[in-house]
Amino acid sequence: MGTKSMLEVHQFPCLEDNYGYLVHDQDSGFTAAVDTPETEAIERALKEKSWQLTHILNTHHHFDHAGGNLELKEKTDAVIIGPRADAKRIPGIDIQLGNDDIYLFGKQEMTVFETPGHTSGHCVYYFADSGIIFVGDTLFALGCGRLFEGSAEQMWNSIQKLLTLPDETVVYCAHEYTQANAQFALSIEPKNKDLIKRAAEIDKLRANNQPTIPTTIELERRTNPFMRPNSITLRETIGLMDGTDVEIFAETRQRKDNF
Ligand code: ZN
Ligand code: FE
Repeated sequence: MGTKSMLEVHQFPCLEDNYGYLVHDQDSGFTAAVDTPETEAIERALKEKSWQLTHILNTHHHFDHAGGNLELKEKTDAVIIGPRADAKRIPGIDIQLGNDDIYLFGKQEMTVFETPGHTSGHCVYYFADSGIIFVGDTLFALGCGRLFEGSAEQMWNSIQKLLTLPDETVVYCAHEYTQANAQFALSIEPKNKDLIKRAAEIDKLRANNQPTIPTTIELERRTNPFMRPNSITLRETIGLMDGTDVEIFAETRQRKDNF
């Protein structure tokens, strides 16, 4: 196999509360933009790192994720990779991928998981060797995406796929929503000690204008209400002690929508 270096991730704010990401593989020189929220910010980041854009990885079709596709493709000739299930809505898509497909990014294996719920064709991108995943609007720190095009059952299935990843997996979400998510999480699981501690850390980070992303699968597993339908205190709060995990997840999502 030979030795592979770890992928380098460069994170930068875009638009109101999006994050842009560049993923760089030193061995091949490949650089991918994960989604294209803002062309200018992405170009600035590329320049700053002296990297050349070779790929775009789209998680889903929303404008704050694929809005810069065509302009960047025209300027850089980057190959656009996106969800097969939603190919018609991904501008300029070149390579369509679906569940469990593996794409070689240089020598780095990138595994695709379909995670419908937020949109019907949402995909996430997992680089096992580097232990990182880009989850778009499927999972947020202490939250999950709104159900615009899918059912609670679909979204819970999608989130369960993420729960199978190693604890230490580093999770890159597409938005900085964490502080508001923490308020909701505390309201629904007020006795969760890990959550209480994390909420305080989040307040400190945001007070200093620092990102709360990335997070990890372990941290989310311990504190994210959308990953904890079997938590007793969470079930107590919503008054569904005997509900199925999907029912608890659905009720939690609905409460967040109305929070
Ligand atoms: Zn979205
Ligand atoms: Fe978004």
